[in-house]
Amino acid sequence: MLIKGIRSCIVPANEKPYMKFSELNLPPNIFESIVNMGYDEMTPIQEASYPVVSSGQDLCALAETGSGKTAACAIPLIQKIDTTLNAIQALVIVPTRELCIQYVDDIHDVAVKTDVVPFAVYGGFSKSIQVAKLNHKVHILVATPGRLIDLMYDGAVNLSQVKCVILDEADELLKIGFLEDIELIMSCILQEHQTLLFAATMDDDIKKLVDKALHNPQHISLIDERPSPESIEHYFEYLHSKNKEAELMRYLEEEDITQVIIFCNARYKVDALFKNMRKNLKNIEYIHAGLSQEKRSSIYRHYRNNKVRYLIATDVASRGLDFSNVSHIINWDFPGDGEQYTHRTGRSGRMGRKGKALTFLTKRDLPSLRSLIRRQKIVPLWIGKDPLQGDTGPRGEKFHKRKRSYRPSRSRRPKGQASV
Ligand code: ADP
Ligand code: MG
Repeated sequence: MLIKGIRSCIVPANEKPYMKFSELNLPPNIFESIVNMGYDEMTPIQEASYPVVSSGQDLCALAETGSGKTAACAIPLIQKIDTTLNAIQALVIVPTRELCIQYVDDIHDVAVKTDVVPFAVYGGFSKSIQVAKLNHKVHILVATPGRLIDLMYDGAVNLSQVKCVILDEADELLKIGFLEDIELIMSCILQEHQTLLFAATMDDDIKKLVDKALHNPQHISLIDERPSPESIEHYFEYLHSKNKEAELMRYLEEEDITQVIIFCNARYKVDALFKNMRKNLKNIEYIHAGLSQEKRSSIYRHYRNNKVRYLIATDVASRGLDFSNVSHIINWDFPGDGEQYTHRTGRSGRMGRKGKALTFLTKRDLPSLRSLIRRQKIVPLWIGKDPLQGDTGPRGEKFHKRKRSYRPSRSRRPKGQASV
């Protein structure tokens, strides 16, 4: 059976309010934590998946990033744990170390007043500490596939009591090439169990995994047609590379920024930009895969806790991470493809909050820009001149124009571009 759209598709959002957590009859120690986390109403994916996860049925759920999938799993899952049993009873598999840390932190927040022990294992961190913790007590294990298999080979992790397996960001797991690892892990869980699969996109590979790993699953699809969150305004600016830094500084000064991520396509660019920008800005950090795991984790935590305002990053920071306060995304470099654009810009505009994306464009990016706009169904807003205008027909025919929030001076425009 397919539950489609729940509120957004079947019931117009303004006709019926979302269900509240207070209507779920949750145990007080879980309900109190949820209230402390500031949650009141359930998100559509939470409302749709709660009865399914609670019932024990397998689930294949499609939902956008930022839709609240973690709590959708964590809240019913924590209630299923038998705390008198010292054994891993739920296994969450995620594609990256950062998601692992984030997921376990979120479970911890919900479970803080219970005796449920969540724990994360991922690469780049001391195995002996992880083994010690696993030997002591873990009820919910969140893991990246590589380290989990490593620990399984070492005999350090016992999955014989697992009752529920969650494949989170399954599309990304497959994209990274974890299919065989997932199959191996699943083949080691011999006892009957529930499997929950979450993804933002459904392609043939995911369908195959669903067929293999899930039994008679309930399907929930809350994906709307538009891939980028609608709460984001998509600004573009056409300029010379040498003007980027001055433009960036000016933009950051003029905008009302809560938190911003500035994406570059290469580590060395992140390093160089950070070196220059830190001279003028406080609360600025950078992150890329060249940093130690310890350093990366500490930056993520600082950023999530609002201690960092400006984050310069490679795409290591672009997928699935929840930075609820990100008001702005800046693409210093044009993203490689539409999917990358969506993942980057999806870091802002979370949970229906307003966000702005600004993408710097140089001449060589123009061909990719056309396909990005078309395929991602973006309504572009221009700071300065719309460089596609000349060869795409009369002005306004192809692209909407909206009021600019900010406009560079004549001297900053690429040579030969007239003022709009
Ligand atoms: P996803 O996994 O779907 O990308 P997350 O589970 O990371 O999304 O949630 C995105 C953000 O929304 C997080 O900051 C989370 O704390 C918040 N959130 C989740 N559910 C609710 C809710 N019911 N009410 C308010 N905020 C919520
Ligand atoms: Mg998630």
